[in-house]
Parts: sequence; C-alpha cells; structure tokens
Amino acid sequence: MPAPVIVPRPEHTISRANISDNALKVLYRLRQENFQAHLVGGGVRDLLLGLEPKDFDVATDATPEQVREIFRNCRLIGRRFRLAHVHFGRDIIEVATFRGSGGEEADDEDRRVENGMIVRDNAYGTIAEDALRRDFTINALYYDIRDFSLIDYAGGLADLRAGCLRLIGDPEQRYREDPVRMLRAVRFACKLGFSIDPDTERPLFELGHLLESIAPARLFDELLKLLHSGYGLGVFEKLRHYGLFAQLFPETEAALGCEEHDFPITFVSRGLANTDQRIQEHKPVTPFFLFAILLWEPVRRRYGALLEAGESPIEALDQAASEVCARQQQRVAIPKRFSLPMREIWALQPRFEQRQGKRPARLLTHPRFRAAYDFLLLRAESGEVEQELADWWTRFQEANAQERATMAEGAAARRSRRRRRRKPAAKSSLTDGG
Ligand code: ATP
Ligand code: MG
Repeated sequence: MPAPVIVPRPEHTISRANISDNALKVLYRLRQENFQAHLVGGGVRDLLLGLEPKDFDVATDATPEQVREIFRNCRLIGRRFRLAHVHFGRDIIEVATFRGSGGEEADDEDRRVENGMIVRDNAYGTIAEDALRRDFTINALYYDIRDFSLIDYAGGLADLRAGCLRLIGDPEQRYREDPVRMLRAVRFACKLGFSIDPDTERPLFELGHLLESIAPARLFDELLKLLHSGYGLGVFEKLRHYGLFAQLFPETEAALGCEEHDFPITFVSRGLANTDQRIQEHKPVTPFFLFAILLWEPVRRRYGALLEAGESPIEALDQAASEVCARQQQRVAIPKRFSLPMREIWALQPRFEQRQGKRPARLLTHPRFRAAYDFLLLRAESGEVEQELADWWTRFQEANAQERATMAEGAAARRSRRRRRRKPAAKSSLTDGG
C-alpha cells in the first residue's frame, strides 16, 4: 500500500461551514461510537473545486449493521453493494463501509467476480484498500472528521489541480470490473470540465459493448444523472464520440446516422440544450420529456412506415411507440411513471394539427398539454414541422374566447382551401421528410 499524502486542516480549503448539518451529525456520531468517519467522494471533490456538492457520502469502518444500530433513521440498501442510508426527512446521507479486496479468492459470499466483472462487492477492508477500489483519483479523497485533515492515497489532489480525470489502477481492468465507470467518466469530464487522461480515455472507444451486461434499471439511473444535471448536451456529444450512445439508444443512434436536413440531430441537441438551460435557471425538468426527445426519431420513422402501410394515424402512432419502447426497455429500463407520460407527449402530436371547431380548446385542457406543446415547439425549431403551426398554438393559448373561436374558424377555412388545392389529402406533417 502506498503511503498517503495527508494535508492538515490549515493547508486546505474544506470548512465545516460548507458541509451539511446532517452529514456532520452522521460523522460526529460515528466518531462518538469510536468508529472512523470520513467524508469522501463527490462531497470532498466538489468542495475543493469550489462547487456546491450534490450530496455527501460518508465512509466508515462500521459495518452497515453497526451503522443501523447507531441511527434509528437508517435503512440498509443494495445487494451488489450494501450501503446504509441515514434519512433526515428528504435528505439522505449515504454511509459506506470501507471495502477490501476480499483476500486471494475472488469468489466468496461477500465478493464475487464473474468474467472480470464485480457482481458483488461486500468484502470489508481498511481505508487504504477502500481508496484504491474507488473509481477516479479525484473521487478517492477523504476528509477525516477526527482532525479535519485530507487524506489522499491515489494522487487525487494533483489531478484535481491539473483538471485531469484518471482511473485508479489499470483502466481496462477497472472498466471491466464495472462498465458503468465508462458512463461516470463521461459524466465527470462534462460536469467538471476536466480532460480525461489518455490511458483512461482510450478504452472508452473499445469497451462500450460491456454495457450490455449492465442491468437496464441501473442504466436508467445512471442516464438520469448523465442527462439531468445541466450539461446533458455535452454528455450526449461525448457519449456519441466514444460510441457509448449507440449502446444505450441503438435505434436513436441508427436514426441519427441517416440525417435528413440535419433535422434529427438538431432536434435532440436542442432538446438537451433547452433542458440544460432550464436546470441552470432552477426550473423544473422532467425525465419523461427527455426520453420523449431521445426516442422520437425512431418512433416517427416507424409511424411513417405504418401510415404508408395503411394504418390509421392513432393506431400507427400507438403501435410505433409500443414497438420502440419494448426494444428500448431491453437496454434502458424506463419506469412506467415516465414511459406513460412520454407516450402521451407523442400521442398528442397529431392532435396539434386539428385546429378546427372545439378540438383545440379541448386539447388545451389535457393534463399533458404543456409538455406536448413544448415538444411541438422543439419540432418546429428543428424544422420537422412548420413554424406556423407552433406559432398558431402559442397565439391560441394567449387568446380570449372570442379570438379563439375566430382562429378555429380560420383554421377550418384554411383546411378546406388546402383540401381543394391538393388532392389526394395532404399527408400529415408528422410524416413529411420521414
Ligand atoms: P455525485 O454524487 O456528484 O454524482 P460522486 O462522486 O459523489 O458524484 P456517487 O455515485 O455519489 O458519486 O459515489 C460516491 C463515491 O463512491 C464516488 O466518488 C466514488 O469514490 C465511489 N464510487 C461510486 N460509484 C463507483 C463505481 N462504480 N466504482 C468505483 N467507485 C465508485
Ligand atoms: Mg455523491
């Protein structure tokens, strides 16, 4: 084991004033019970960078069971990686027991390695062992509550200063142990604006297929962190650059490959950029909207094909959505609470084209109208539908009852003029160019 670099309190910038009260409570309480207690991971990293940590993770030599005995508000979670969650209302402090290598045999009750992949990681060890099985050097810095010093076993402080993201140990082996680390590399590079060390970066181009062995539910959780954090556009571009996006969204990647007038790529990029902006402005964002954007192009293509084959629009869209979702779920498991509203957004799109009579007013009252309208705006911005259609709906929402009636009549008149002009009936704009 290498000797750690220890930075005493006066020589670093982490102050207790910037650590949440709940995290401090957990640290002090563990200490009181004569356990080691350290802040570790993103909390330490972000504080040193002058960023506001998303959450605080604690590392200790207490086992999860011992942690549960100390805190009444504690739940043990995870099978692959057992953890204690200490709850303070909605705030959760994650407490992890130091992990070790589990001795010489890599296959026992607590630690299991299959084809190089760690499928169970519950063998406990020392802080030094724990440091080296963390992913990146900058994520392996410990803040010791005993004397407020910083402990660095892996060269994380130097990498933090240099803006360098580096895996601890042999990169290829570390990706094979847990392929999700590839996604984490992209996430931290984008979030922190760090460059990826060449040895850590190289395998990203080759090992994407390892993501096939990751449970779709875990990939969903990871994707949310990737795309919902204010730098989703950069993440999307990097994932594509390394060929990782194709592993997560194979049909979307295939559709992006055959660009027509730049439309699909512009659509996804703008959708992600809008979401990033909303997050930066502290406005609410919903995962189903993002997934609706990411899967729209495969759905739209299939929809077009089914229409050509003579299906009715409602049936065709429903069937296209079902098929694309069923295949997508095998890669990334989108929970029902997100996939249902995502499909509603799609199902409402053809209804924007019906602007006569009572229909538009009725559409306004649909619970998913707002999201579907935002989606329509994006389609217009990226040139998939006429801007005129989106503008009409913008005006219609702002109009009073009298104006709305006039607009609906105008739409009816325009529609019959169009009908007379082009025969047979115009194709839905949903299928134009598809
Ligand atoms: P953030 O919370 O800001 O997203 P984080 O670095 O704290 O970033 P977490 O997922 O909260 O990330 O994990 C906490 C710490 O646990 C990490 O900093 C890292 O030390 C360790 N860790 C998490 N996931 C892995 C992994 N797949 N392999 C190795 N170590 C990991
Ligand atoms: Mg964290």
